[in-house]
Amino acid sequence: MAFVPVTYYPPVMQEQLRNARAAVEGSPYERYLNVDLTVPLEVARGIQDGPLPLSDTISPTVEELNAMLTDPVRRDWGWSVLEGPTLYVQSRIDFPGSTPEMFEWWFWWHTLDPRRYMLWFPHSHVSATPADPKRMADDSLTFAERFYGNRHHVKEWMGPEFLDSIINFTDPAVLGFDMGKFSAAGFAASASGLLELPGVPDVTVGMMIHIVRPVEGGMELVSRYWLGSHPALRRFPGAEKACELFASVGIDAEKMRNTAYELSVHDMTEWNNLARILPGLYAEFGPKPG
Ligand code: ZN
Repeated sequence: MAFVPVTYYPPVMQEQLRNARAAVEGSPYERYLNVDLTVPLEVARGIQDGPLPLSDTISPTVEELNAMLTDPVRRDWGWSVLEGPTLYVQSRIDFPGSTPEMFEWWFWWHTLDPRRYMLWFPHSHVSATPADPKRMADDSLTFAERFYGNRHHVKEWMGPEFLDSIINFTDPAVLGFDMGKFSAAGFAASASGLLELPGVPDVTVGMMIHIVRPVEGGMELVSRYWLGSHPALRRFPGAEKACELFASVGIDAEKMRNTAYELSVHDMTEWNNLARILPGLYAEFGPKPG
């Protein structure tokens, strides 16, 4: 697969890159800060071709979540606006040389120091702070036990817009996955969760799925995002208030269309970069055998 450089960085992201470079300078993280980010040409072109037809998207219902474990999508990329309105993004990313264990480790490790979060997407990522850092650092727990239900306050640039959000990482079974089917399809780890806005606790405004499974030569990551007031999200706390909340901050279907494309670019850029650096980071900073 041919990779091409990302060339679109609004001025605020150029500034964030300068901040990130200054932050890691002289630290052991410096050599992992990639300035030249690259993405698969096929995906970069694919997401420039307008929204996905609704027949190529999935809804956040329990049925469709489980169907996604076994039914491959026609494309490994894409964005759209669904009913609600609800912003939708889908992707599948190859991680050569990575494993689901490395993926879980990353979701713990990066929250302990904002410089680590910056490595993931140096032009965008500002900070990711867990609500309970003590639990995050408790090494008697598994990585999943440390980050599920431990809300992360995430600050990052989504193109020219600043996104300030709360990710409530949640057990995939609670989101609706049938864990028997999940394992049977080979999936081995999840960093999926519900989304909220800062200062507005217990109003679910979206759901994000990131699940991984081993494939030949490494691992693949399958992601889905829904942000909005889709009726199927109403099985989660406070989601019936999302519509009113979005209206009050001026987020309508047009705004969602732009943000869906920006999120597609962001997703493609950050995950392909993490795929590039994760094996090296894990070898240097991960748990040592024995
Ligand atoms: Zn990001």
